[in-house]
Amino acid sequence: MTVAVVLFTSDLRLHDHPPLRAAQRAADEVVPLFVLDPGIAAAGFDAPNRQAFLADCLADLDEGLRERGGRLVVRSGPVVREVAAVVAESGAREVHIAAGVTGYAHRREEALRAELDGMGVALHVHDTVITAVAPGAVTPTGSDHYAVFTPYLRRWSQERLRPAGGAPRAVRVPDAVRGKRLPARSAVKGVSPALPQGGETAGRHRFLSWKRSGLDSYEDMHDDLAGDGTSRLSPYLHFGALSPVELVERARAHGGPGADAFVRQLCWRDFHHQVLAARPDASSGDYRTRHDRWRRTDEAREEIEAWREGRTGYPVVDAAMRQLRHEGWMHNRARLLVASFLTKTLYVDWRVGAAHFLDLLVDGDVVNNQLNWQWVAGTGTDTRPHRVLNPVVQGKRFDPRGAYVRRWVPELRGVDDRFVHEPWRMSEGERAAVDYPEPLVDLADGLARFRHARGRD
Ligand code: FAD
Repeated sequence: MTVAVVLFTSDLRLHDHPPLRAAQRAADEVVPLFVLDPGIAAAGFDAPNRQAFLADCLADLDEGLRERGGRLVVRSGPVVREVAAVVAESGAREVHIAAGVTGYAHRREEALRAELDGMGVALHVHDTVITAVAPGAVTPTGSDHYAVFTPYLRRWSQERLRPAGGAPRAVRVPDAVRGKRLPARSAVKGVSPALPQGGETAGRHRFLSWKRSGLDSYEDMHDDLAGDGTSRLSPYLHFGALSPVELVERARAHGGPGADAFVRQLCWRDFHHQVLAARPDASSGDYRTRHDRWRRTDEAREEIEAWREGRTGYPVVDAAMRQLRHEGWMHNRARLLVASFLTKTLYVDWRVGAAHFLDLLVDGDVVNNQLNWQWVAGTGTDTRPHRVLNPVVQGKRFDPRGAYVRRWVPELRGVDDRFVHEPWRMSEGERAAVDYPEPLVDLADGLARFRHARGRD
């Protein structure tokens, strides 16, 4: 009997899984392995919402494997040590893994290669598992990555994707290899009350139902805060419960302006991956420095706290920050405007906001979170780095009736449409009847401070 190990990481699915397919082709039996690595916790990447979602993903993956005659082997400990132990116990001759782009993923790959080389075992790294187009597969002349989205999109759209594969019919796992009990979602403390169900089954269900009901209207609806017209697939993509190759393929087959707009968003995800793969330092340092001298966090402590808790006095900002806490997710338009508010209106370092998002977001990942924060802060790839989003203008435009605000800020439920984004404009008597804070900062003052800091006044 020949054996191969498949190390699952950010690819917790059975459909369209090239490492699993290759391992099954190469060996009689496979060990589907997931390692709970304390290195992830030490790096602060395992916030409760993601731990809970991960538990769902692992349970679902195990169930899918059991339906096919196999099971998931879960081990805990340093990943290289655990892979080496499983290789030794099973007599595997090869290990398959999806290519990652983060510094952690690179270090893991290098350490695995060194260990497995010493054991005479081959490591096969598969790209286009976590992204649709592999980072580095398309590059502009004279650079190792695209720094601007639109030319990347043009080039990315011309790439021929490999056809998405199905799920295996059967998976044979050697009896000798034992794992530990799967982590349970119910054991995780501090989870957002409305966190969605994780796992490939839930993700596929969500995609199929949204493809029927939301894809065609996506282009028109994706910025509407109250309409909630986006796919909400980001956590499933983050954990790899859905394949980006399959989503692009199926959206293209569906066709139309909604599908085109959705594929464009999936391209944003690949865009950020290829930036971070080329510039791993951008996960913590500025991609492009603007020589910012951000306000000291101790000086801005109260404002940062008000922002985190959703009591800035700007209704759309507060609604978004409360949605984040309640659902572990926030609408993209809302992410843009709360990030602009923190980094530009309050002139607080983007890393402060990115860390808060990573504490709560169920889709929170170093690639998309850090690079989107930098995009908004103007230290990233945005071609208009000094633009400032006005939360009142944004609120009126993307939540014209105030339905989003009223959903998340119950204090303002009874307020007239005219004032729902500017409650300070109500009469004194009306204001006294509403328990809602005054604006934390004057928008004009915030704008002037930011312009001055960037040398643009
Ligand atoms: P849809 O609108 O349905 O889009 C489909 C998919 O495209 C998404 O699931 C996502 O995978 C991808 N996508 C869409 N927009 C972007 C984008 N701007 N960048 C990268 N991929 C995108 N996304 C994350 O997955 N993780 C994060 O940690 C994250 N942090 C963010 C922080 C800030 C400050 C901002 C402005 C954006 C961030 N995003 C992040 C991007 C985006 O907001 C989310 O991907 C999106 O809101 C997820 O909702 P959805 O699945 O309904 O998206």
